[in-house]
Amino acid sequence: MSKWKYFKKDEFTCKCGCGLNNISDALLDKLDEARDISGVPFSINAGTRCKKHNSDPNVKGEPDSAHLYGYAADISAKTSQQKFAIISSLLKVGFVRIGVYDTFIHADIDPKKPQNVVWDD
Ligand SMILES: [Zn+2]
Repeated sequence: MSKWKYFKKDEFTCKCGCGLNNISDALLDKLDEARDISGVPFSINAGTRCKKHNSDPNVKGEPDSAHLYGYAADISAKTSQQKFAIISSLLKVGFVRIGVYDTFIHADIDPKKPQNVVWDD
């Protein structure tokens, strides 16, 4: 039985096969709330990343990525409408770090990084 209505913790395991999952419960609490408000599916492209996977050139991870610390999720979003629904719900539940990319929305709660920021690819 998952603690969250819309997510299972293992959706946030590192994708390289290493099995690492340090995803933050506080992040999942906020994502679950946002997913509820949005009314659209949140498909998770990335959660935890180990150092090795984050440094894979195909992953394009920042050297000090919030994904390393389990503070970040990338939510698949292909259309402008999906992006709007996801971003507006993230803002409503108090996310203050949002990245807008071609095929996904990044949201994180990394306290060591600048707050109240939206960036693009
Ligand atoms: Zn890994």
